[in-house]
Amino acid sequence: MLLTLAALAVTGAPVVTAAPEGAWYQREAAIMGTRIAVELWAKTPAEGDATIDAVMKEMQRVDMLMSHYKPESQLSRINAHAGAGPVKVDRELFDLIALSLEYSRLTDGAFDITYASVGYLYDYRKHLRPDEAQIEAHLAAVDWRSLELDPAQSTVRFARPGMRIDLGGFAKGYAVDRSIALLVARGIEHASVSAGGDTRILGDRFGRPWIVGIRHPDDPDRVILRIPLEDTALSTSGDYERYFDADGVRYHHIIDPRTGHSASKVRSATIIAATATQTDGLSKTAFVLGPEQALEVIARIPGVDAVFVGPDGKVYYSPGLEPPTPADGRP
Ligand code: ADP
Ligand code: MG
Repeated sequence: MLLTLAALAVTGAPVVTAAPEGAWYQREAAIMGTRIAVELWAKTPAEGDATIDAVMKEMQRVDMLMSHYKPESQLSRINAHAGAGPVKVDRELFDLIALSLEYSRLTDGAFDITYASVGYLYDYRKHLRPDEAQIEAHLAAVDWRSLELDPAQSTVRFARPGMRIDLGGFAKGYAVDRSIALLVARGIEHASVSAGGDTRILGDRFGRPWIVGIRHPDDPDRVILRIPLEDTALSTSGDYERYFDADGVRYHHIIDPRTGHSASKVRSATIIAATATQTDGLSKTAFVLGPEQALEVIARIPGVDAVFVGPDGKVYYSPGLEPPTPADGRP
C-alpha cells in the first residue's frame, strides 16, 4: 500500500526540462542544535557558496534570538524575567510567539510553547525525568492562555508563577521559511532547506519533483514512504529523535501539555503544507491528540496533509494522500 502511494505519486513519465547553465551546490552544518542541510541550483560556484553562506547566517541569527540554550538570547530573557513583569522583545520574536498561540488554538492546545514549564525537567542526554510530584508541581504553569502579549508594547508576560516557554517545536520551521524567502529574493528557483525534521522545497528538480523519504520509527535506514514534493514544506516529528528508554517506557522530547509526560499516541507524524512554520506547528499534534483527532484538526485547515505512524505500526493518511483503492475490483 505504501509503495503504491509512492509509485502512484510519481506516475506519468516526468517531463525532464533541460537544466540551464549552472550546478547543484550543497552543504550541511550544525546550527540550532540540529543538522541544517541546504541544496540549491546556482549559476556559478561563487553564487552557490555565497548564497549558502547567507542561509547559514540567517539560521544563526534566528538561533541567537530564540535559543533557550543561550542565556543571552531574548527567549532566555523572557524566561528569566517575564514572571516578574512584561519583557520587551524584538517584533520578530513577538510575532512568532503570537503566532504560536494561533497554533495552540488550532490544535486544541496540543501545541503549546509553555510545555517547557515541565519540559525543562527532562534531560534526554542524562536520562533524567521528573517524578509525579515534580510534574504535579509544575503542570499548572503549562498554559498558553496565561501568556500575556501586548502588541502595542511588544512585551511578553507570564501570568502564572513558574512559567517557561520554548520554541524548539516552532523556530526551525520558521528559520527554514526565512531561508527560502532569502533564496527567492536572491533569484534562486530550485532549492531544498532542512533544519532537523523541518524541510521546505523551492521549485522542482528540472521536470522532476524532489523526493523526501519518511523513515521507519525503529530503523533509520528503512524508508516507509517516499513523497514527491515541489514548492511545499514538510515536517516529520518522531519519538526516536531525542529520547531514552527506562522501565519499558520511551521518554522523548514531545510533551503532552495536559499531563507533562511524553506524548505517545503516535510514533511519528509528518505534515505537508505550504510553509515550514505551519508544518512545524502542526507536527506535534498527533502525538498528543492521537491520529484520528489530529486528522480532524488538520482537515479544518486548507492545504494541509498528514501521514502518521501509530504505536502498532499502522499508517494513517489524510484524505489528500490516501492511496486510492482499485476501482471495482479490477487489478
Ligand atoms: P525537530 O526539532 O526535529 O524539528 P519537532 O518539530 O518534533 O523536532 O519538535 C520537537 C520539539 O518541540 C521538542 O524538542 C520541544 O522543544 C518542542 N515541544 C515538545 N512538546 C511540545 C508541545 N506540546 N508543544 C510545542 N512544542 C513542543
Ligand atoms: Mg520541527
